[in-house]
Amino acid sequence: MLLPIHLTLYVKNKKTMSVVRLYAGLIINPLETSSAAPHLDYIPDGCLIVDEHGTIQFVGTLTDATMRFAETQIQRFDNAVILPGLVDTHVHLPQYQAAAVGTGELLEWLNAYIFPLEARFVDEQYARVQAERFFRDALAVGTTTMSVYCSSHKIATHVAFEAALNAGVRVCMGKTMMDTGAPDTLLSTPVQNIQDSMELATRWHGADGGRLQYTLTPRFAGSCSWKLMLECGNVAKTEGLRVQTHLAENPSELAFIAELFPHAASYTDVYEQTGLLTEKTILAHSIYLSGEERSLLKERNCAIAHCPCSNRFLQSGVMPLRSMMNQGFRIGLGSDVAGGFSLSMMNEAREAAESSKTWNILHRGGELPALSAEEALWLATLGGAQALGLGDTVGSFKVGKEADFVVVGLDALMPRDTVFHSYPNLAARLVYGTAGMKVEHTFVRGKELYRRGDSVR
Ligand SMILES: [Zn+2]
Repeated sequence: MLLPIHLTLYVKNKKTMSVVRLYAGLIINPLETSSAAPHLDYIPDGCLIVDEHGTIQFVGTLTDATMRFAETQIQRFDNAVILPGLVDTHVHLPQYQAAAVGTGELLEWLNAYIFPLEARFVDEQYARVQAERFFRDALAVGTTTMSVYCSSHKIATHVAFEAALNAGVRVCMGKTMMDTGAPDTLLSTPVQNIQDSMELATRWHGADGGRLQYTLTPRFAGSCSWKLMLECGNVAKTEGLRVQTHLAENPSELAFIAELFPHAASYTDVYEQTGLLTEKTILAHSIYLSGEERSLLKERNCAIAHCPCSNRFLQSGVMPLRSMMNQGFRIGLGSDVAGGFSLSMMNEAREAAESSKTWNILHRGGELPALSAEEALWLATLGGAQALGLGDTVGSFKVGKEADFVVVGLDALMPRDTVFHSYPNLAARLVYGTAGMKVEHTFVRGKELYRRGDSVR
């Protein structure tokens, strides 16, 4: 167990005289690039200074910091790494109970395991307990920002926002909209779906200084009528809200969508014609896309939530990650619990790296460089933030950004007699950690929300 050293010299920032807090340790910082060239920076004697609002005031070396900010409260993390909070760009809160459960592919799995589970969220008390546990567990694995699908119930979505408000986590979240293709108890009319969503957005979008944001959430074209998708597209445009949905995940799903909408040129065209493709749209999976569909998505500047763990668990397929990165898409990683079996974004980073190798194995002769551990870390942090349109707020350490970060102990990452010879090896140990990544502390806006072995809230 790593114990931070507190030097309680409460003093003042020389310039502003506001109380600041200084965090010291080995910092890993994603560089402000795009997915076409992801890189990390390392600051061995690093220092992060955060003001009383949770905004980063300084990133650099401890030596420079102590010259500029005298008499500051210092929290030093020895034998640990400080990295930006992890970003989950695609996850289903009401499915958490089903993580690792079930067999079969997407459509069969939804009917057998997921819809019955989501139906239980009609019970407000059950929904509240589940939401509190979900966010608590996410913070414990270092996730500080999440793009969340709630159940299709308005009240369950409301209590999920209350739970996120109290937990301190950063969310973009919405009520899952469905009006067809699922049990009746999960459906409501297009008018009701939009009305409920707008009432929730009015209450929660931008709450707590923008930490909580509302996302329009039509589940996918297989459970939304044309009318519902069209209405959703209209609202997205007039209100400027994010949209999240699924696209081209599974071959059976593709056939199902083609049967439902024979007049559309492609799955992507269904969303194009209904106005759902905007620069604030996050599309999960996006495995089976033609060149035309990819060009259209790029033109609309849509973001991709890459969910490799789920893609394998549900036997959906292997996304051509590297070529989509080379095309310059904004790409983040999504746990897609419970299609994925873990809330850990470090698990998802490892799956992303291994999945890119699987793509190469399946396409001998057409190999592209496999995703490195460093690139996977970049996708799990700044890549995810950029995908959600939060790249100016979180995802890396930069003056003016909000101080969402995680402290990971190094002892658990390796056998004691192992030494690092390079920073890429350190990143690899984080992603592939022999004993699993041990998150020691999780902070959002400079506020500690999780401490291993302790309950700080
Ligand atoms: Zn999903």
